[in-house]
Amino acid sequence: MPMLNGSCHCGAVQYTVEIDGEPENLRRCNCSLCRRKGALMASVPEDKLTITKGKDALTLYQWNLKIASHYFCSTCGIYTFHRPRSAPDTWGINIGCIEGLDPFAYEDVPVRDGASLSLASDEGS
Ligand SMILES: [Zn+2]
Repeated sequence: MPMLNGSCHCGAVQYTVEIDGEPENLRRCNCSLCRRKGALMASVPEDKLTITKGKDALTLYQWNLKIASHYFCSTCGIYTFHRPRSAPDTWGINIGCIEGLDPFAYEDVPVRDGASLSLASDEGS
């Protein structure tokens, strides 16, 4: 299975993801967090992502129900991956951080309606 390299912008955080063929569950999301990040995301099973450097450079951000875990680099601020509330056995990954994948190459990417998935207010994926 192809192993791709991922990193934040400054390189403090590095990881690998295994993606077989096209990324799965490509999406954007309109929840109040994702609309600010604007990232194109995909899903990988939890054992297909391995942090190889900079685990302690990551900052965890949680909000609303505090179930989903959103990680970003404490130096450059880039969102690298998150643990979705709706699928806690997967990682949501930022396609723009993955070497060899072009986030602008995908057409007709669905926008998930994270804004209305919310139990407490408007937590998305
Ligand atoms: Zn960084």
